Amino acid sequence: MAYTISLANQKGGVGKTTSAVNCAAALGALDKRVLLVDLDPQGNATSGVGVQRKKIKLSSYDLIIGRAKASEVIQSTGFKNLSVIPSQISLAGAEFELIDMDKRELLLKNALDEVADDFDYIVIDCPPSLGILSINALAASSGVIIPMQCEFYALEGLSQLMLTIKQVKKLYNHSLEITGLLITMYNGRLNLSMQVLDELKKYYADKLFKASIVRNVKLSEAPSYGEPVIYYDKYSKGAKAYMDVAQEIVERTL
Ligand code: ADP
Ligand code: MG
Repeated sequence: MAYTISLANQKGGVGKTTSAVNCAAALGALDKRVLLVDLDPQGNATSGVGVQRKKIKLSSYDLIIGRAKASEVIQSTGFKNLSVIPSQISLAGAEFELIDMDKRELLLKNALDEVADDFDYIVIDCPPSLGILSINALAASSGVIIPMQCEFYALEGLSQLMLTIKQVKKLYNHSLEITGLLITMYNGRLNLSMQVLDELKKYYADKLFKASIVRNVKLSEAPSYGEPVIYYDKYSKGAKAYMDVAQEIVERTL
């Protein structure tokens, strides 16, 4: 049975997609069989692993509305142990189309069950909202990773996210856990970053990943080449950071 992880945070630009793509690729490099599920209509995780949006025939949209099976929408990537369910902009309509569907919170979970034994990890990249797509992701997950930037407003919105996680756990998925909080785009030379990190350690010590993701230009360049950072520049700080996080994910999910 795969351990399914959602990268969730309703804020945009906090590093969800970067973390989903690079944790997925790093877990693959650690010999785990990994499926990356792109659940954001923007499709940045899809292009981040080299899948051209124009060439997609079936996507996470077809999966979630029940028009295709998981085994039909999965594509291989050029990277070790890494498959992907791509997304397309049509997914943006799902939010509305799902309104009157039966058990609409569990559509993704039920659809992924078919392939859960084919993978060690399923990594879901969520959109920047707490709408029905993110609820589906959380309902389908064993754990959540919350990427956050070390900025003044980092904690703002965190309580809303925690509340949503708690509600999904209660209503749809009793075993949902918080796999960890992941600091992204960290700059250790900024006093503010250090202060926010200290604050987070006070409240969430046991949940914070030991490894923080530093701000690293290779991480922002790699997607335009359609490559996870460990393939784009394996000696970069970003590559090392995500390998460390993947190792910690494995330890936390044994
Ligand atoms: P989200 O999915 O939460 O909206 P992204 O992963 O797309 O966030 O990241 C937002 C932007 O920041 C992207 O342009 C991405 O390339 C860049 N970025 C993310 N993490 C880093 C990092 N550690 N260092 C440098 N740039 C980063
Ligand atoms: Mg994103």
